[in-house]
Amino acid sequence: MASPEVSKLESIYADVLRRNPGEDEFHQAVREVFDSIVPVVARRPEFVEACVVTRVCEPERQIIFRVPWADDRGRVHINRGFRVEFNSALGPFKGGLRFHPSVYLGTIKFLGFEQIFKNALTGMPIGGGKGGSDFDPKGRSDAEVMRFCQSFMTELYRHIGEYTDVPAGDIGVGGREIGYLFGQYKRITNRYESGVLTGKGLTWGGSQVRPEATGYGATFFAQRMLQTRGDSLEGKRVVVSGSGNVATYAVEKVHQLGGTVVACSDSAGYVVDEAGIDLELLKQIKQVQRGRMSEYADKRGRARFVAGGSVWDVPCDVAMPSATQNELHAHDAATLIGNGCLAVVEGANMPTTPEATKAFLESGVLFAPGKAANAGGVATSALEMQQNASRDSWTFEHTEQRLAEIMNAIHDRCAETAEEYGAPGNYVVGANIAGFVKVADAMLALGLI
Ligand code: NAP
Repeated sequence: MASPEVSKLESIYADVLRRNPGEDEFHQAVREVFDSIVPVVARRPEFVEACVVTRVCEPERQIIFRVPWADDRGRVHINRGFRVEFNSALGPFKGGLRFHPSVYLGTIKFLGFEQIFKNALTGMPIGGGKGGSDFDPKGRSDAEVMRFCQSFMTELYRHIGEYTDVPAGDIGVGGREIGYLFGQYKRITNRYESGVLTGKGLTWGGSQVRPEATGYGATFFAQRMLQTRGDSLEGKRVVVSGSGNVATYAVEKVHQLGGTVVACSDSAGYVVDEAGIDLELLKQIKQVQRGRMSEYADKRGRARFVAGGSVWDVPCDVAMPSATQNELHAHDAATLIGNGCLAVVEGANMPTTPEATKAFLESGVLFAPGKAANAGGVATSALEMQQNASRDSWTFEHTEQRLAEIMNAIHDRCAETAEEYGAPGNYVVGANIAGFVKVADAMLALGLI
């Protein structure tokens, strides 16, 4: 027999399914939070009575728009643009833009929903939002990417602002794209409003450590989590999936902390490099040449490229899924557990399926959900906004120190909350409850919003 709290949450969840048909990833993200907050609803019935749980699942505003652009041969293409402004109880909407052909409304809503609680966990005054497009930047020239970004911003600009909604990067959106987007915003509005976008270049309003922040932050989280068991990253074999922004800087920080990253991947396959991933070569191929991981193996004699397959087959002590959602399945979890993996730290958003997450939690593997572990990116974006607002720029060392403190605080908040709610060591429960309660309290305080 289900408890009254479970019954209430099930009824709200049924409503979420009915109102948002076909948005599987969004359903998954909501389900995970609901599974965690049962004891909160028991302790704080007003969260259900005042419909806070229902309201938090409904975005404040959803914008869908046409993005027409012309390729280098003059052919016209039409993509779809999205911005989901999910929750601004704690501050302006904040969250990245994703350009990937798989993007649809359900992707942006799952990411925006996660972002609400992640941003709350950082302790910074930022709400949650997310955006993007089904545009595929792969194989496009700089001029094509620029024209796409300009067209995208020509609609988006009217919805964003330093005090309204502050986008940043995500998959397919890095420094190049943020530059083109900011240039068009500046041109249309005739304002040098630095705080309207984060992830900017260092010479035009960006912050030190922002490119590194998500990967560094996830690694700081891994270190802190291992320390709770009297352990550290020193001497550990680490596997990182992906080879983009998050993965690259996770590799860098793991190496700085004495671990060795022996494998990473892209959507075509994975590379095993027992001597440790060569960071300079990785950056050269991925960031400068915008190339593929197979080229890494070609250039680096002893490395091996495996087309297709799962990077999780490579034995490791620590796994850092840092590519995309639902990339680590139950059978991968079984392999990792069988190989003696000690900790899984999500650099990406929701990369571990619910079944795989359950397997890790049940087998005592330390498991850090993305909501907590990858919050270093958005936290450093908030530091970028602080610097923009005060017309200041901080040193690399100072900014990295702030990032490390924020990550340690997030870790400790999740651990303490899990303990308080009777689930010691369960960072999923800790992150969901700590994030949810902060937002829910603010929503109650602000009246019926
Ligand atoms: P990125 O620089 O574009 O890199 C993405 C990486 O993941 C690439 O190696 C890409 O391989 C791989 N990938 C993407 N989609 C894939 C798919 N459908 N199947 C297999 N591999 C795929 O993006 P990123 O900024 O590192 O973001 C990675 C993850 O971290 C995402 O979940 C993102 O939401 C999350 N995240 C990012 C930040 C940030 O600050 N950037 C902050 C918090 C969370 P290909 O090149 O082959 O596509």
